[in-house]
Amino acid sequence: MMPLIGSAVRWAVVWYCMLEGCFMASITNSGWFWHISDIHYDFSFDGGRLSCNGKVEGSAPYSNYWCDSNWRLTVDSFAAMARLEPNVDFLIWTGDNVAHIEDEHLSMELNIHILTNITSLFGQYFPTTTVYAALGNHDYFPTHQFPSSSNVMYNTMGDLWAGWINDTEQVENFKRGAFYTVKTAHGLRLVALNTNLYYTRNKKVRNETDPAGQLAWLRKTLQAADTAGEKVLMISHVGVGVFTPDDVKWMYTGFHKRFVSILREYGHVITGIHFGHQHEDSFKVLKTTDGKPAIPMLFAPSLTPWRFVSATSGFIAPEHNPAIRLVEYDRSTGRQLNIVQFYTNLTSTNLNNRSDWTRAYDFKKAFDVRDVTASSLHELVQRMWRPEGAKYFDRHYKFTTVIADRDDDPTCNTSSCKSAILCGLDNIDYDRYDSCVVEYKKRFQTSGSTPVQLSEVYRLAYGFLLLLVAYTSNCI
Ligand SMILES: [Zn+2]
Ligand SMILES: [Zn+2]
Repeated sequence: MMPLIGSAVRWAVVWYCMLEGCFMASITNSGWFWHISDIHYDFSFDGGRLSCNGKVEGSAPYSNYWCDSNWRLTVDSFAAMARLEPNVDFLIWTGDNVAHIEDEHLSMELNIHILTNITSLFGQYFPTTTVYAALGNHDYFPTHQFPSSSNVMYNTMGDLWAGWINDTEQVENFKRGAFYTVKTAHGLRLVALNTNLYYTRNKKVRNETDPAGQLAWLRKTLQAADTAGEKVLMISHVGVGVFTPDDVKWMYTGFHKRFVSILREYGHVITGIHFGHQHEDSFKVLKTTDGKPAIPMLFAPSLTPWRFVSATSGFIAPEHNPAIRLVEYDRSTGRQLNIVQFYTNLTSTNLNNRSDWTRAYDFKKAFDVRDVTASSLHELVQRMWRPEGAKYFDRHYKFTTVIADRDDDPTCNTSSCKSAILCGLDNIDYDRYDSCVVEYKKRFQTSGSTPVQLSEVYRLAYGFLLLLVAYTSNCI
């Protein structure tokens, strides 16, 4: 009887692991890197405040929720990173350094000047640490209009960042399209992309099929990594999927489809993608075509506290606090192990005339996950769909603004808000996202409570079937 019970337990563990995608414990060789994004430095803050789209009341020594970062906030965030954790393996910097200012006040020379000044801050605070940088849509002039061939910005930034890229061939690659690949000191392959080429506000390359040949290059690079048995960490500015709950699809549909298809094809090689651009903190999981978790995608909140105000609809985005994030990863496998999100509360920072960088949350603790891999995020999303996972949904929602109070929708309790966020977490394809939202609303209206995702039903039914088989085979 005892051997039968022992074999049943082993059998159950094996099947449980297959169901849940868990892995056997392994010894990790962990390291840390900083991620800073969307600094949006407003050079006019002390005279004109061109980025401010609301009334600034009181003094604003560290800028204001209505405005982009001033120089004091920008420098302070670098000092905070160097003070909080100076011993990182590298830093990632995912673009948008120029403020939200009309083109009439900007120029290619001015934008390059801003990028150069911020590059020198890395040198000042992390003189011996490598930085992996990607450009954002606001870095280019004219704003958003990244071209698919060599130009003064690609050439200048390629030369300026040549020491970090540290590979002549890849510097040349950067000068052609602002993308490159290098190996980190610990052997992980890093790929930096220019997804501004796929952004819907870029009119320059929208009729091309593969601007700058980046997609062909990416497939080739990932195939070479796969053949060599390497793991790949990716960084880029404009992210995939849908920005929720506002339902914004950042990329042209054709580009998005082709890009996501390559990511899916090499999901077993890519250990994570870090994006910027959204300004709000979030994550997504890319799944394989048969629904298995493949790639964790992490969207870092911005340094700039700037609130978006739509000139056409009058929509006002919620305010959010300046943020920097520390990521723990496994140097050997590239797995993302944890995220520690730091912020400074802008209201008290301005009131006290002193920043107070502190932890907003620790991802593993806040969401009760063992790491930040695709399978852990997938399990978290499944939990969020269930009524008992409501607290994780609420936390995620609170973190999107880097725990600033929301004056738009503090709870996200409506079916349109809930459906957008839940569906957006693991439906990366635009059409799948749209049908998920429709399906959710239909079921929400019928049942009046949060519906359970179909895949969850299948998973539970499958588990029950396995237990039934075990039972009928006299294993238990
Ligand atoms: Zn952007
Ligand atoms: Zn931005």
